[in-house]
Amino acid sequence: MTDAQAERHRMVDEQIAGRGVRDLHVLEAMRKVPREAFVRPDLAESAYDDNPLPIGYGQTISQPYIVARMIEAAKIRPGERVLEIGAGSGYAAAVMAEIADQVHTIERHAALGRTAREHLQKAGYSNVDLHIGDGSLGRPEAAPFDAILVAAGAPSVPLALKEQLAEGGRLIIPVGATELTQVLMRVTRTAPTDWREERLESVRFVPLIGAQGWS
Ligand code: SAH
Repeated sequence: MTDAQAERHRMVDEQIAGRGVRDLHVLEAMRKVPREAFVRPDLAESAYDDNPLPIGYGQTISQPYIVARMIEAAKIRPGERVLEIGAGSGYAAAVMAEIADQVHTIERHAALGRTAREHLQKAGYSNVDLHIGDGSLGRPEAAPFDAILVAAGAPSVPLALKEQLAEGGRLIIPVGATELTQVLMRVTRTAPTDWREERLESVRFVPLIGAQGWS
């Protein structure tokens, strides 16, 4: 095992499985994705730390645990099609790409989006499509999705995203009345015109900025 592999296994054992994440797909995927390839070179040594890290432009790569929790909550399975809003570094998209068939991810910040695309290409993730633009409207041309993950806090659940869920599809999104704290929600499309909403836990994300986010 290389040093990075050993650190990755320790991260999964201590920070992820150790805190109650049980989904074997998530644990297996996180043992594979080289997180050091998704952070700034000068922060590579901190790649497996138990916290978010700056990626520039005031944005962060999320704490590994929260990435795991969100993907577990989304119940992503092999063969599925996934949409992520807020590509950031591209790391969470890579973890989902280890499990799902196809991942679309959207980043509103062009420079971050280009860097994330490079990270994903270098790490060999050919089943991720990165788009630059406002993800609060989703990606109707690629819908429906089995799972949609939003990695930024929204003032409410965007209708556009609910409508892009397949029947049985799950939307995981932090929702909060202020830009600082949110409740992680799971919205499941139970029928063509029916959605079930569950509140999962308190979280803290950067704001979702866009047409169905904050201005
Ligand atoms: N999933 C990322 C972390 C995301 S941080 C990772 O693994 O590294 C949240 C990201 O959402 C930021 O990069 C921010 O620029 C982006 N963002 C905010 N509003 C957005 C919007 N409307 N559409 C797309 N991306 C958005």
